[in-house]
Amino acid sequence: MQLLSKNILGALLILMLLAFLYSSFAGTFKEVQEISLSELVRKINSGEVSKITVQDSDLKVVLKNNTELKSKKENEAALSETLKNYGVSEESLSQVAIEVQNPSGALYWMGALLPFLLPFLLIVAFFWLTARQVQRANVQAFTFGQSRARVIYPNNAKERVMFKDVAGAKEAKEELMEIVDFLKSPKKFIDIGARIPKGVLLMGAPGTGKTLMAKAVAGEAGVPFFHMSASEFVEMFVGVGASRVRDLFKMAKKAAPSIIFVDEIDAVGRHRGAGLGGGHDEREQTLNQILVELDGFETNESVIVMAATNRPDVLDPALLRPGRFDRRVVLDLPDIADREEILKIHSKKKPLAQDVDLRRIAERTPGFSGADLANLVNEAAIVAAGGSRKQVGQMDLINSIEKVLLGPERKSHVLSEKEKKILAYHEAGHALTAAAMPETDPVHKISIISRGRAAGFTLKLPTEDRHLYSKTHFLSELAVSLGGYASELVAFGELTTGASDDLKKATDLARALVTKYGMSEKIGPLAFGGHEAYVFLGKDFSSERDYSETWATLIDKEVTRLMQNALKRSKEILTRHKHALDALAQKLIKDETVERDEFAKFVRQYGVA
Ligand code: ADP
Ligand code: MG
Ligand code: ZN
Repeated sequence: MQLLSKNILGALLILMLLAFLYSSFAGTFKEVQEISLSELVRKINSGEVSKITVQDSDLKVVLKNNTELKSKKENEAALSETLKNYGVSEESLSQVAIEVQNPSGALYWMGALLPFLLPFLLIVAFFWLTARQVQRANVQAFTFGQSRARVIYPNNAKERVMFKDVAGAKEAKEELMEIVDFLKSPKKFIDIGARIPKGVLLMGAPGTGKTLMAKAVAGEAGVPFFHMSASEFVEMFVGVGASRVRDLFKMAKKAAPSIIFVDEIDAVGRHRGAGLGGGHDEREQTLNQILVELDGFETNESVIVMAATNRPDVLDPALLRPGRFDRRVVLDLPDIADREEILKIHSKKKPLAQDVDLRRIAERTPGFSGADLANLVNEAAIVAAGGSRKQVGQMDLINSIEKVLLGPERKSHVLSEKEKKILAYHEAGHALTAAAMPETDPVHKISIISRGRAAGFTLKLPTEDRHLYSKTHFLSELAVSLGGYASELVAFGELTTGASDDLKKATDLARALVTKYGMSEKIGPLAFGGHEAYVFLGKDFSSERDYSETWATLIDKEVTRLMQNALKRSKEILTRHKHALDALAQKLIKDETVERDEFAKFVRQYGVA
């Protein structure tokens, strides 16, 4: 709209400019000599003139020898009259062809009309634009309560997802197969009187493929897939969410059999009554409407509602009641075999070099979600393309692991000599403590090149997927976390702000040991503070304390003791291996990164482990 009005104005301006240029230049393109009227009369009388063209007061004179001249007459008078007055004889005049031209067509009209037309045009344009805007606003108001669902139809080959596009998740697929069967041939189930679940809740960490899986169910069953994020229900105005829910369900029922997918349902489905805004905020109304629609389904309506959340713990219990989202499917972070599968799926369309071993990449990426792995492969392809290589190599993939894990390198982050030294000792402290402590994950890489938010990093990765963690492991982790802090103390006897993130992480871990895992002898097998009251606006929540002052003091004491012990152990290790610490720090200052093999050799050489 804006563009259009600009275009009109622009066009008008250009037109006017052209007209102006033309009129001022048209006459001067050819250098034509101007003669006076009396001169012209003389020429006519002597029979030199063959033709005169009259345009307004301008005379274009063509002589018999083809030279062109120009002249002027008074505006009003006719040419023949004027010439006669100047004493041209009838006879000689009759030998001259006189042509009277109307002032040049289009241009003349433009010049004459534009000044009148322009304001008129502008007014028309203005009214037209406002009218359209009003119309649009009307349309908008009208469609406000309509759902904004995106639909994927089964004949959309490009967006259709099948189970084979989702790696791993075998159990989830098995459970969902039943839903697929039902959507494919609902009659079979209805005839036998089976009650088919209406709602399926997909639960899992971000990026584990919940959205993907829901699409795959629709793809397998060959039914339309209505996709909407719960946050899209909620607008500024109360009641819009509920109306959108109604509309979405109406659309889906019309297209039955079909799937409705409500992504991130925790955005509206949080525990009701926990909000600060009284009992009736917009979220609640939206949630209520979803419940009403779910309950209102006839058993023979073959519409399945799927929803996804990564916070099942905060969902309103009403959502989980039988007859609502009573089917729950969990999507776990992929294990090593699944990770390899996911890597395979995502590298299908990318040419891989001979040396690529996806199993090795899968080994190195415990804790990565499907989305992380997809991202990893993509990053590697980008790096390969940036290096003008035709294939993605193993090193591209390995380097992308760090990038996905820690963010891109920040080469512009320039350190002074002194900062570099402190950073080198800090990271060397983490690494050596990790090497010396039992049950820690092996160090993959140490670097003082900043990445993402971290100034430097010591990357430790477990060798296998871990599900249980021992107390020994946690205590070692505590010491490793404080390794940087300890190293600064041992090497410089002075502390910097560089350790603040480490301290926070370590303190959180120590507190969890005491209050969650029962790993402190003094406190024993107790868990504290599990009740979190969620505030309706978002992630912030306040943890309500459900224990007495006495316990609080004891817990704080235990946390302090664990931290002190960890620091003591780390300092001990670094003092005992001060040579190794100095050498490793020097190496880091020189090379900036130390890789796993090099570090292992170093550790053996100095007898650290
Ligand atoms: P969620 O909805 O759980 O946050 P998504 O379904 O949006 O996760 O997954 C994001 C992307 O990660 C997908 O588009 C897909 O490319 C990739 N992905 C995740 N899990 C898998 C999987 N099991 N197999 C293949 N790709 C996956
Ligand atoms: Mg999702
Ligand atoms: Zn650190």
